[in-house]
Amino acid sequence: MTETATKYDIIIVGGGPAGLTAALYAGRSTMRTLLIENKAMGGQLLNTELIDDYPGAAHIFGADLAATMVKQAGEFGTTFLTATVEGIRPVDGHQKEVTTDQGTFTAPAVIITAGGLPRKLGIPGEERLAGSGVSYCAVCDGAFFKERELAVIGGGDAALEEGMYLTRYASKVTIIHRRDAFRAQPVIVEEAQKNPKISFLMNTVVDEIAGEYAVKELHCTNVATHETSVLPVNGVFIFIGFLPNTSLIEGHVAHDAGGYYLTDPLTMMTSVDGVFAAGDVRSQLTRQITTAVGDATTATIAAVKYVEAVGKGLPIPFAPYQELAGAGADRG
Ligand code: NAP
Repeated sequence: MTETATKYDIIIVGGGPAGLTAALYAGRSTMRTLLIENKAMGGQLLNTELIDDYPGAAHIFGADLAATMVKQAGEFGTTFLTATVEGIRPVDGHQKEVTTDQGTFTAPAVIITAGGLPRKLGIPGEERLAGSGVSYCAVCDGAFFKERELAVIGGGDAALEEGMYLTRYASKVTIIHRRDAFRAQPVIVEEAQKNPKISFLMNTVVDEIAGEYAVKELHCTNVATHETSVLPVNGVFIFIGFLPNTSLIEGHVAHDAGGYYLTDPLTMMTSVDGVFAAGDVRSQLTRQITTAVGDATTATIAAVKYVEAVGKGLPIPFAPYQELAGAGADRG
């Protein structure tokens, strides 16, 4: 263990709704708590304009919910640190060492709430025109496209919700989905279908995003008919899911095919002793603010019991997630 490491009881990695909930519960349990985030506190809440599905806070702005959560967590003594976590590794005596670009910290329990990054299509033009018409965040970039024509790629809740959001600026939004049925919840699909500015291109994949200095058109193929087409647009917003931020722990950690951490359902402990996961990094059916908050509550209450057992030299009350032999794809 690094001699100069600063000691905490619980270290939380990631400052979205799961991390801020974990900080609140850890602080209320009088744990010495460090929350590390490399961007602004609030995570994806900051990329969401209006939130309608968080009980008790109808029609709340994402930034306002984030600010309230930060304030609430801070009232119970959490130390907030802006830093990039470089690695997490178990060391002696049930301790975990968290190395960052701002120093090294240790704690018996680590809760990973690091979310993820938008998945990329990996097609020609996507990387080159990122920031010049290719975007992954409607709240961040939508206002640049007043009275312009946009495309949204994806068929999940995010694509449809963000597509609807973009209609407040754009003159037209074409939602392009690779299948003939949406993954998004029916209530969201119905709402999008009623929006007069939205049209749909189903069974369609985008092969290339074209334009010299800015997005000019999309080259598409209908996967049912194999017909190709060109869609002129001023911008394209890509919402095709998430890549979880799960590469921080040294060594093998049990995960599903998408790379999300598998966790014990009772405690949210990963397959690494004393390392818990909550929110978008965790394998589960859905990824909502409410589920992130729920996961984080469970993870933190379990982590507190873990820390107390370590402190008193008692047997650890919970076992790590038990991976079935042969399950999961080993990423080493
Ligand atoms: P998602 O549900 O995983 O949907 C991703 C969509 O992108 C799918 O329609 C998928 O197509 C498509 N896709 C994936 N890879 C693609 C590729 N290479 N090319 C073209 N299309 C591709 O992701 P999400 O919409 O980001 O949502 C993630 C989670 O957040 C979900 O659990 C969702 O419920 C939740 N969420 C909830 C809300 C809300 O409730 N208000 C809002 C946003 C997100 P296929 O359908 O063919 O696989």
